[in-house]
Amino acid sequence: MGCVFCKIAKKEVPADIVYEDEEFAVFPDIRPKAALHLLLIPKKHIPTLQEAEERDIELMGKLLLTAQKVARLKQLKGYKLQMNVGKEGGQEVDHVHLHLLAQ
Ligand code: AMP
Ligand code: ZN
Repeated sequence: MGCVFCKIAKKEVPADIVYEDEEFAVFPDIRPKAALHLLLIPKKHIPTLQEAEERDIELMGKLLLTAQKVARLKQLKGYKLQMNVGKEGGQEVDHVHLHLLAQ
């Protein structure tokens, strides 16, 4: 089975990647809840925010700046970010990701 987002990062599962660098990949959510609904993932597998560690501080900060980059790329005037944490927090895919939603 394995992690679907790791597979997307490794190009083993197809996704229409809109932004990518060494540490992050950004692609559309397959069940969009807004006109623009992107998922931003670190390529490093961290199951949930609760499992992030001190050594991930820079990576998690860069995740927010990746949202900023994508927003500039897409010329968004505004957007919403959401992170679901844990099953009880609505997280379905156990690989840290940020939802970016815009109209
Ligand atoms: P979450 O509920 O925060 O874990 O969000 C996971 C999101 O991943 C859901 O909105 C799904 O629609 C989306 N998703 C699951 N599999 C894929 C996939 N292969 N490609 C793109 N989005 C996916
Ligand atoms: Zn993963």
